[in-house]
Amino acid sequence: MQNFLYKLQEFFRGRYGFDELNGTLLVLSIILNLVSRFIFSFWPRMIVSIIGFIFFIVCIFRILSRNCYQREKENNVYKPVYTKVRDFFKLTYKKFKDGRTHRYYKCPACKAQLRVKNVKGEHTIRCPKCGYQFKKKIR
Ligand SMILES: [Zn+2]
Repeated sequence: MQNFLYKLQEFFRGRYGFDELNGTLLVLSIILNLVSRFIFSFWPRMIVSIIGFIFFIVCIFRILSRNCYQREKENNVYKPVYTKVRDFFKLTYKKFKDGRTHRYYKCPACKAQLRVKNVKGEHTIRCPKCGYQFKKKIR
């Protein structure tokens, strides 16, 4: 067992490993694989599952790649997209979670998301990021 772990460790030494792009590729390949099970005509099903398989192969290739510099560059191109999508889902989840107790507004000056307690009446909201003040009416 110890010998096997050592060999495994040696195998992964100097290889790139897992990152955000690989995570997305893996999730996409799983989703496409699942979706393909619900497509009942032959060619569309084949195409969807082949695309999913290609994503999976690219993911494995990137994990085992020794060209870390190039993989890092690819991930840095992808990261802003990943961050935007992740933040969108985080915000949507937060809005859903405390939709009864809080309201969400966008600061007109700096576009920051502001969370305000859901209390009836007119409020002056001050953005903590840029200091801009604006009025909102909560009914
Ligand atoms: Zn602001």
